[in-house]
Amino acid sequence: MPRPTAARWSSWSGAVKANPTHLVRPESVAELAALVTAVGERGGTLRPTGTGHSFTPLASSEDTMVQLDLLDHDRVDITPDGRSATVSGGTTLRVLARRLAAAGLAVPRFGDIDGQTVAGALSTGTHDTGSGLGPLHTAVEGVELVDGTGTVRWVDHADLPAARLGLGALGVIVRVRMAVTPAVVLATRTAKVRLDDVLADFPHHTADHDLAEFSWLPHTGWARLRLGDITDEPPTASMTVRRAADLLADRGSTWVAGQVARTFPERSSVLGGFLAATTGDVASRRPGHEAARALPPLRFQSTAFAVPVDALGPLVRQLEALVARDDLPLVLPVRVRTVAADRSAWLSPMWDRESLVVSVRTVRGMPYTALFGVVQQLCRGFGGRPHWGLMHTLGVEELSELYPRWEDFVEVRRRFDPRGVLESPYLRRVLGPIS
Ligand SMILES: Cc1cc2nc3c(=O)[nH]c(=O)nc-3n(C[C@H](O)[C@H](O)[C@H](O)COP(=O)(O)OP(=O)(O)OC[C@H]3O[C@@H](n4cnc5c(N)ncnc54)[C@H](O)[C@@H]3O)c2cc1C
Repeated sequence: MPRPTAARWSSWSGAVKANPTHLVRPESVAELAALVTAVGERGGTLRPTGTGHSFTPLASSEDTMVQLDLLDHDRVDITPDGRSATVSGGTTLRVLARRLAAAGLAVPRFGDIDGQTVAGALSTGTHDTGSGLGPLHTAVEGVELVDGTGTVRWVDHADLPAARLGLGALGVIVRVRMAVTPAVVLATRTAKVRLDDVLADFPHHTADHDLAEFSWLPHTGWARLRLGDITDEPPTASMTVRRAADLLADRGSTWVAGQVARTFPERSSVLGGFLAATTGDVASRRPGHEAARALPPLRFQSTAFAVPVDALGPLVRQLEALVARDDLPLVLPVRVRTVAADRSAWLSPMWDRESLVVSVRTVRGMPYTALFGVVQQLCRGFGGRPHWGLMHTLGVEELSELYPRWEDFVEVRRRFDPRGVLESPYLRRVLGPIS
C-alpha cells in the first residue's frame, strides 16, 4: 500500500478544505480492512472520499481520508445476461458509462457531470431529470463494503435501503452491483419560453417526455425549457459547427455574466436580462448518459431541495418575488428538475414522493449565505428535503423529521459502525452521534 501521507484536500467548489493527517489510497480490500481496523484500534476516525464533488464536508476528515482510485478503479464486470454490472466503488461514472456503452448498455442517466465516483454519487442521492427516472442508487442491487469494524460485508437484502444511500456512514463501499439496461439515444431540445407558460405546462411536459427540466433566468420572466425523448434515430455528431456555436453562445454568455457578477453583485438584475437576451434554441441527439450535461462554464456553490411536485407554481412565484424584493445576488439560472418517487433508500430525498428538485447556484466568490438561507426557508415551507451533497444548514433534529424511516437507518448505522470510526463533526451534525 502506498505510504499514508498527510495532505491538503479541497472539494471541487473550494468551499470545503481539510488537512487530514493521513490520506490513504489502498490497493486491495484486505489493505482497506486492515486500515479501518487499525484506525478503530487507535480511537481515530476515517472518512471515505470520492472525487470531492460534494459541496458539504461529508467526505472530509482531519484524521484519515480514504480514496479508492487505486482499488480496481476501472473494473466493470457485466453478467452474461447483460442485466447487471459490478463495478468498484472508486470507478468514475465516466468510466462506467463508457464501458457499458461499449457493450450497448447503460445505467440510468446521472446528471450534469460524470466525474464523480460511483460510490460517492450513490451515497448522496445523485440524480438526473425525468418523471419516470429515479436517482442513480435505485439501480443498485447490492454493495460490498468494509464497515466501521473493518469487516467486509456484502449487503443485498434487508440492510440495502440503508446502504444504497448511506453518506459514507456505514462503511467504505468497494463494489457495487447495479441493474443495467440497453443503451438509448435521447433527442433533446432547449428553447427560450415565458416562465408563465412553463409553470402552466410543466406537469404535461413531465408526463409527455422522458426528460424534462427548466431553468428560470432570474430577474426576468423567461426560462429555458429542456425536453428530451428516447429515439430510434442515431446520435448526431458529438460536435458540429452549429452545436459548437450554440454551446459557445450559451456557455460564453453565462461565463461573462458570472465574471461580471463576481465583481458587481449589485448588477445581478441587469445580468439576468443579458442571459435572457443571449439564450437561443438548441437541439441534439446524444447517447442517454451524455444528454443531460448542463454545467455552467465556471465554478459555483450550490444548494438544492427536493419538494413535492404540486409546490411548483407557488414556490417559483415566491422565489421570484423574494429575489425582486430583496434584490438578491442571483445570476445563474435556477434549475427545476423532476425525479420519480423512490422507496429504495431510506434517506432518499425523493422518498415516497415524485419530486421537483430546485437548484440555486452562485458563482464562486460571490456571497451565498443569505441567498441560500432564503431558498432553504422557502423550500422547507413546502416540505423540502435537501440534496445531501449540496449546501444546507439543517441538523439531525430537522432532518430526522423529514424521513419516516430515519430510525431504521440509525439502527443499521449502529450495527455497521458501533464505535463511530466513520464519524466526523459534519456527520454528527446531520446524522447525530452514534450513541
Ligand atoms: C459540477 C457538479 C455537478 C453536479 N451535478 C449533479 C447532478 O446533476 N445531480 C445531482 O444529484 N448531483 C450533482 N452534483 C453533486 C454530486 O453528484 C454529489 O455531491 C456526489 O456525491 C459527488 O460524488 P464524489 O465522488 O465527488 O463524492 P464525494 O463528494 O467525495 O463524497 C460524497 C459522499 O460519498 C461518500 N463516499 C465517497 N466514496 C465512498 C465510498 N467508497 N464508500 C462509501 N461512501 C463513499 C463520502 O463519504 C461522502 O459522504 C454535482 C456536483 C458538482 C460539483
